Amino acid sequence: MEWTRTIAADGTWLCEHIDSQGNPAPASVLNIAALENVYHSPSNSRGELVCPGCGTLWRGWPKQRQVKFYIESPLGNVSPYQRAHRTDIDTLIAQVWKRFAGLQVTQYQYVWPADDDGIWWFRLPGITRQKDVQLETADGMLPFYVDQRKLTTMEEAVGRVCNLLKKIQATSQPHAGQSG
Ligand SMILES: [Zn+2]
Repeated sequence: MEWTRTIAADGTWLCEHIDSQGNPAPASVLNIAALENVYHSPSNSRGELVCPGCGTLWRGWPKQRQVKFYIESPLGNVSPYQRAHRTDIDTLIAQVWKRFAGLQVTQYQYVWPADDDGIWWFRLPGITRQKDVQLETADGMLPFYVDQRKLTTMEEAVGRVCNLLKKIQATSQPHAGQSG
């Protein structure tokens, strides 16, 4: 899985898409000039933008001429299109998301485009104390590592993540204040 893209001379790159049937769909042309929430740094200034075509979060490094996509949920918009180049983590998130309303999935964001950002957090809404399920995979593909356990099949991974989320649900009291 190639997470990064090189920005073209005109400042653009493509976010490639598929439709709900998995067929190729029109790509979005994204522009480095549209980066938001820019963090300024002498060496590696960086910002982010959400693709209007599929809701994918992109981070961009203008000086490095590099952009990189992140797999998070819920998406930034509602669109008939999905990002092309699906990974196992996309499949896992889609399956777990169906079972937990309001589930939030975020991906680690380090400072350089070449960094390994292969950590995801699954968080339930309304849990007052910070509890989440952490999953690691360097390339977005199986096997996944959850709680130091290696999960080699999608079925195993979905089951493990769902069980841990259920445990968090059962042991957490939403809106219970600051005690404990
Ligand atoms: Zn897109």
